[in-house]
Amino acid sequence: MNFILYAVPFFFVLIAVELLADRWRGVSHYRLADAVNSLSTGVLSTTTGLLTKGVGLVTYAFALKHLAVLQLPADKAWTWVFAFVLYDFCYYWLHRMGHERNILWAAHSVHHQSEDYNLSTALRQTSTGFLLSWIFYVPLAVAGVPLMVFVSVAALNLLYQFWVHTQHIPKLGWLEWCFVTPSNHRAHHAQNPLYMDRNYGGVFIIWDRLFGSFQEEDDNEPVIFGVTTPLASWNPLWANLQFYAQLWADARRAGRWWDKLRIWFMPTGWRPADVAARYPLDKPDLSRFRKFEVPLDGRQQWYVALQFCIYIALGSYLMNLEHSLPVAALILGWGAVAFGLFVLGMALENRPWAPRLELLRLASGLLLVWLAPLAGLWPASPSPGSGCSVTACSVASGCIAAATGLLGWRRRFAVAGLFQALGFEHLPGQPRILDASAQPQSETQHQQAAEHPQFILLDAGQDGFERGAKVVRRSGQRRGPDCRADAVEQ
Ligand SMILES: [Zn+2]
Ligand SMILES: [Zn+2]
Repeated sequence: MNFILYAVPFFFVLIAVELLADRWRGVSHYRLADAVNSLSTGVLSTTTGLLTKGVGLVTYAFALKHLAVLQLPADKAWTWVFAFVLYDFCYYWLHRMGHERNILWAAHSVHHQSEDYNLSTALRQTSTGFLLSWIFYVPLAVAGVPLMVFVSVAALNLLYQFWVHTQHIPKLGWLEWCFVTPSNHRAHHAQNPLYMDRNYGGVFIIWDRLFGSFQEEDDNEPVIFGVTTPLASWNPLWANLQFYAQLWADARRAGRWWDKLRIWFMPTGWRPADVAARYPLDKPDLSRFRKFEVPLDGRQQWYVALQFCIYIALGSYLMNLEHSLPVAALILGWGAVAFGLFVLGMALENRPWAPRLELLRLASGLLLVWLAPLAGLWPASPSPGSGCSVTACSVASGCIAAATGLLGWRRRFAVAGLFQALGFEHLPGQPRILDASAQPQSETQHQQAAEHPQFILLDAGQDGFERGAKVVRRSGQRRGPDCRADAVEQ
């Protein structure tokens, strides 16, 4: 039973409630770009999962058939309770190894890249976990847990973890002893040395207490969320590839074949000695920590947020009809989702070529309309209960069309005018002025520059730092350890 699909509306209702709580308490735990990036990785993960879940299901079914020592009855309550607890025990070890081994951290790090902590962070999930995570659930098959029970308790375990991603709930007394809670999971998302690699449980925190990996949230040590090698990007595809790319680069540079092979399975952060000497990585200085931020015009943010609704609708549609859609349709849908979310990520980063990419995305929509019936993506024969997704898809599309049309009408509809209306600074074909020495002018600009010392101002544009300035990290990794801001990309 796909509990996740039915939970999607509740996720968004609870996110809205958390936003209201933010406002009520006068705090701000959300930034639009960060939330869109987290949700983008979530949509990408569920959409990728439609094509890759077979790996987990086939391996589990195979293990159940050939390795099971028992046959547990699916209609007995104790089977479900046993499976639920055993699943969480296996999850603990998957999660722990996900932090402690390079190749598993490459997949799991996606969940930790957000430097905010809110309910949207919960939906920030990897798209590559299917490669190795199945190994950790073989014990359930050996114990004879039926496939349907396994799939259901896996979904329930994931659902439980949603509510703990909030800063609004304090410590919860005795619950802290048994269960994963917002407090002990906040510590898990920290990059402070005190909290690093602690609190791996999914539902029960008792595993951490038993195996010595528990750390209580300390009021004297405020949590700094994120990872020590910052993602520094709003691109959901890069979020999934960042650490694999670093491992691949290090493996290529290593002089010894043994190092090239073992780097993937070594403890997280391990690097071959020759590579570490020639390509040292910056050590994080948390006292100077600043969140990744790209200043962006409000209209452009709203435009991206509205366009993002299309992919929530498309992702829900694909999830809803996964059993009646041919593989070609799922691949086409995945391609549309991946490309669209990539383009929106580039818009959030205010890349100079984002408007041209946006034109391509809008044009690809026409291609999709043409290809969809050929691939069987649309119209599809709806499965029971699909009405909600189809309606959501139609309503979202209608809202976006209306909003875009309204913007175009108010700004005299034309391609250039439309992009200006949307807040894009760099119009297609318009020459850009690169001024690496540009300095902030206004007080606000000075304040922003002081708040983001790790960025250099590359292109102030007409309105200066506040609107659409292009910023690139001064140090650290952006596209691999040796790609520095000195080699400015355009
Ligand atoms: Zn984790
Ligand atoms: Zn988490």
